[in-house]
Amino acid sequence: MKVPFVDLHAQFRSIESDVRAAIDRVIASQRFVFGPEVQAAENEIAAYSSATHAIGVSSGTDAILVGLMALGVGPDDEVITTPFTFVATTMCIARLGARAVFVDIDPRTYAIDTSKLESAIGPRTRAIVPVHLFGQMANMKQLLAVAAAHHVPVLEDGAQAIGARYNGEPMGKGSSGATLSFFPSKNLGCMGDGGMVISNDADFASRVRLLRNHGQEPKYISRIVGGNFRLDAMQAAIVRAKLPYLEGWTRARQNHAKSYCSAFHEAKLNPELLSLPYEAEGVHHVYNQFVVRTKMRDRLRAHLEAHGIATAVYYPLPMHLQPCFAFWGYAKGSFPEAERAACECLALPIYPELEPSAIEHVVSEIVAFFSQRENMR
Ligand SMILES: *Cc1c(COP(=O)(O)O)cnc(C)c1O
Repeated sequence: MKVPFVDLHAQFRSIESDVRAAIDRVIASQRFVFGPEVQAAENEIAAYSSATHAIGVSSGTDAILVGLMALGVGPDDEVITTPFTFVATTMCIARLGARAVFVDIDPRTYAIDTSKLESAIGPRTRAIVPVHLFGQMANMKQLLAVAAAHHVPVLEDGAQAIGARYNGEPMGKGSSGATLSFFPSKNLGCMGDGGMVISNDADFASRVRLLRNHGQEPKYISRIVGGNFRLDAMQAAIVRAKLPYLEGWTRARQNHAKSYCSAFHEAKLNPELLSLPYEAEGVHHVYNQFVVRTKMRDRLRAHLEAHGIATAVYYPLPMHLQPCFAFWGYAKGSFPEAERAACECLALPIYPELEPSAIEHVVSEIVAFFSQRENMR
């Protein structure tokens, strides 16, 4: 039995006519940039996210970049963020000439450890960028309280967390805004690149709106230096076609997570050998990834690969050790939880269309791997 890590074909088969109709609509209109599809996608994602503003942009990365630009981040500024994320989060800080000040992660949720946040704030702190990694929000209650006490704005990287909530609150509540990605493997993926900034802050949202289109208002009068960070109509139409399915897909992901956990519990796998995802209290986790951790990560991964099961490592190298950020001078050992997670984390398949039999297969191969090793002792 082969278990792929994601199966975009399976999803496309289930929604093919909707997606083709959306693409045909754009072709018939011949409006490829801005226009009614982008406007409608913004309105629909704003409603889905319980946000008052949504601005379509060219990718999840550009959503972070324009978000930071809208907050005025520039040279000599510091931006506090997590060392354990996809490189885009940190790279946007570097591209603006600012310095990333890392705060280690909570080893259970993999998000920034908000109890260590306050000591990282200094006179140059211009923004805080938490990442809602794997689909679970960071401790936003504590994070927003610390940020407010120091008058520092917050931009949430929600690329993996569309629809997630913390204590019932959606992303963008109490922060300047949150960024989304429509990269194909995200919970709501388009057919190329796309992203969005959601916000409840009218000033911030209007700056993002200006920045994504060369700062123009009206056309050919540029008020601020921006760029071409637009979401195109084709991707907007595809996102719209898929949005009505998102709740169901998210529920399927959550059910798969439950199935994995109960199968591991039934197999009585020693939690010291393999730890399962932790859901913090009050969290609505949307499971973009189902990440387990083990000291034998690489051997387990090879075993699963040999048995037809694809897995992924998010992320093998923390941000403070990336070659491109060496100029910041962070040393190995500075953020031990992030470094440990980078060696131990393994993402198992959790796409919505995953079959129960595939989950059983994955669990039984993992159990077999650990029992072989126990017997060898
Ligand atoms: C995917 C992702 C991004 C970047 O999104 P793109 O649309 O690929 O540019 C940023 N941050 C995180 C945490 C991501 O997972």
